Amino acid sequence: MALIVQKYGGTSVGSVERIRSVARRIEHFHRQGHRLVVVPSAMAGETNRLLGLAKELSVSPDPRELDVVAATGEQVTIGLLAIALQERGLRAKSYTGAQVRILTDSAHTKARILQIDDARMRADLEAGTIVVVAGFQGIDEHGNITTLGRGGSDTSAVALAAALKADECQIYTDVDGVYTTDPRIVPEARRLDTITFEEMLELASQGSKVLQIRSVEFAGKYLVKLRVLSSFEAPESTSPGTLITFEEDDTMEQAIISGIAFNRDEAKVSVMGVEDRPGIAYAILGPIAQANIDVDMIVQNIGASGHTDFSFTVHRNEYQKAVDALRRARAAGSFEAREIIGDNRIAKVSVVGIGMRSHVGLASKMFKALADENINIQMISTSEIKIAVVIDEKYVELAVRVLHKAFELEKAPQSA
Ligand code: ADP
Ligand code: ASP
Ligand code: MG
Repeated sequence: MALIVQKYGGTSVGSVERIRSVARRIEHFHRQGHRLVVVPSAMAGETNRLLGLAKELSVSPDPRELDVVAATGEQVTIGLLAIALQERGLRAKSYTGAQVRILTDSAHTKARILQIDDARMRADLEAGTIVVVAGFQGIDEHGNITTLGRGGSDTSAVALAAALKADECQIYTDVDGVYTTDPRIVPEARRLDTITFEEMLELASQGSKVLQIRSVEFAGKYLVKLRVLSSFEAPESTSPGTLITFEEDDTMEQAIISGIAFNRDEAKVSVMGVEDRPGIAYAILGPIAQANIDVDMIVQNIGASGHTDFSFTVHRNEYQKAVDALRRARAAGSFEAREIIGDNRIAKVSVVGIGMRSHVGLASKMFKALADENINIQMISTSEIKIAVVIDEKYVELAVRVLHKAFELEKAPQSA
């Protein structure tokens, strides 16, 4: 008998019929003797709808109130799921994040979980009750409702699994595991039986939305056994999904490249003809940091005749804010530059694999594949297990497809 946390994403609970189907799966596990904590997301499209309502009333709604609105999506699905379970003759009880007491910091719309009180959940589990906890939400020390950022139910589930020392955290979604890339873009993408924690962390940070990055970080910190599975298969299905592993073992697939991620949420800001002098990076990025804007890639060209060009990328939502902050800094005399320009129609494509540590030539293979399709690379960044390029947004799907083919990701790797 195991303690299992199961998370069901928006499509998995997207209709009353889907909620019934999730209840059937939960019953199947319950009848096998497992103790279950279930974490649903809001119904598909609901969080967007709720945030859209707030945006109709204000161009920049108060983040505290946005959280009050957005958190209702999950309050609906916990109640509905508990009702569906009770209809099957099971004992079930729902809790909002505040009721469990999922304590977070006060960073509205992107709060971090600080602590989880497991007392009520443990008592219910002891009594044979299925516990249904709202994903995506918590409460701060002042009693304000908070949310954990888009896709945050994954993080709720992994954090609950860590707090309860669950035997496994199962993320049920609309695909049957983690693929070599988004199967909606590349139909030949292959499901991975396992993926290392480091690779999953890198894929998630580079834009693979199958798991929210913070959920992967949590799993790594508390060594939560994390698995991605499909909620669309029969409950009796023995499909293993994808297991995130923490150790490299010799029997594992030995792929050099494990996957390709892409991200359309970025924008590029360039400061052209800026003085090439000590302190210039700080003069440009200081105001960006002060405006609380995260910077991803940074490129500074080689200077010529005392001047250089400096570019960096930010989240697309913060593009205008970044350009405005720089224009203000220039006007205030922090730096001199010929021009501040930007492009919010860029995308980032990243290839990820731990095999990069021991193989050379992967970057040139990537660049050749893109060059053969006439795709211009605007920026490049690398880490030990990743090569990322910024390209024009309109080529992102083509780039992902040609790279998937160039690295032969549709083929299973030779085992060691
Ligand atoms: P949920 O609502 O269940 O949380 P998401 O839409 O957040 O589901 O995440 C699942 C989606 O992630 C899939 O439908 C797929 O389109 C996308 N995706 C992106 N990259 C990958 C990948 N490497 N493997 C599997 N799915 C991926
Ligand atoms: N409902 C939230 C969202 O759409 C959280 C989640 O689905 O994980 O972002
Ligand atoms: Mg998700």
